[in-house]
Amino acid sequence: MPATTAQTSVLERFLRYVQLDTASDPASATVPSTATQLVLLDLLVQELKALGLADAARDEFGIVMATLPPTTQRKDTPVIGFLAHVDTSPELSGAGVKPIVHRDYDGRDLVLPDVPNLVLSAGADTDLAGKRGEDIVTASGGTLLGADDKAGVAVVMAAVEHLVKNPATAHGPIRIAFTPDEEIGRGVRHFDVKRFGARYAYTLDGAGLGTLEAETFSADSMTVTFQGRNTHPGFAHGVMVNAVKVAADFVNRLPKDTLSPERTRDKEGFVHPNDITASVDSTSVHFIIRDFETAQLAVKEELLRKLAAETVRDWPGASASFDVKETYRNMRDAIARHPRILELAREAIREAGLTPTESRIRGGTDGSILTEMGLPTPNLFSGQHRFHSRLEWVSVQDMEAAAKVVVNLARLWEQKG
Ligand SMILES: [Zn+2]
Repeated sequence: MPATTAQTSVLERFLRYVQLDTASDPASATVPSTATQLVLLDLLVQELKALGLADAARDEFGIVMATLPPTTQRKDTPVIGFLAHVDTSPELSGAGVKPIVHRDYDGRDLVLPDVPNLVLSAGADTDLAGKRGEDIVTASGGTLLGADDKAGVAVVMAAVEHLVKNPATAHGPIRIAFTPDEEIGRGVRHFDVKRFGARYAYTLDGAGLGTLEAETFSADSMTVTFQGRNTHPGFAHGVMVNAVKVAADFVNRLPKDTLSPERTRDKEGFVHPNDITASVDSTSVHFIIRDFETAQLAVKEELLRKLAAETVRDWPGASASFDVKETYRNMRDAIARHPRILELAREAIREAGLTPTESRIRGGTDGSILTEMGLPTPNLFSGQHRFHSRLEWVSVQDMEAAAKVVVNLARLWEQKG
């Protein structure tokens, strides 16, 4: 692609988008969780329309969809989707973001002026050390930058602009979607996969240059409830069974050196008690259960059942009950049934002059939920680094490379899909 077009477009767009506050809010019951996200979503509708995507629209859930019509004569090219989320993490302010472009980075310390002594240093950040000669964007220290995932939004928009301006590039129908509330896990709850109409899709929400992610955790939630026996404490002798103490005994029996988030990494899964609802009568311990192998979730849940049974044996009068709910599933198996999705992604990355790096996500993505809903959706890099922090940064050249990958994918699906 002509470097100048994509370059101007992706950076200029990114700088505009990050200055709009789009933090999501887990405490909100509205959809989307914050009205501020609608400002960016509506702006994107206008910009898509201005680029000629006439059907661009936002629905009542805040989801923007648009179609880039095909330029190919072929009738059997599959419809391919590209997605990014507009919200930023509620963990840190996204209001009043002042992006700073550090041109032609030479390895110097990048000073973030709004917080004294806050410095992004190549010595402490090996990814940054590899970016000499590139243009780095940071915030000014008081806020996050919002590259997660406005980098993805800018990348998709720049790629669309490139395809619109280069109609000689043959591609099939392309569907675009921008979604709210990814950071609070509600992003695609109301996503209408059928209306979107893509056969396969890609989210642009990954980190390192060349990254392709098609594997996530499988996840359940599990609640272990201990039933005790409450009485007036003044008349409790020989009668009361305190469920708070039974639950505490149970939690104490969990493995201390294994199977926890703080003691596992890479391919290992865990059981993680993250909340307790307690009273003498009844106490519930809430767990999240994670593993890359779905079958291993049941093994972990069985361990918790066994520990609970051992616990109540030591507390006569107490009993335990269990409730397991599926949260999401590793997208690997569903994506593996359609090998073209990853083959063409690897090829698109190589054609952009990069080496594909395939990694696993110790978590879920909007793509894992979409994959379960029937739309196989791996994740591609968008150039974001140190997300959810004041030291968040992005390389302009990485975003340009990601836009090239999107353009390459549009073309490759027409040629080989
Ligand atoms: Zn993200």
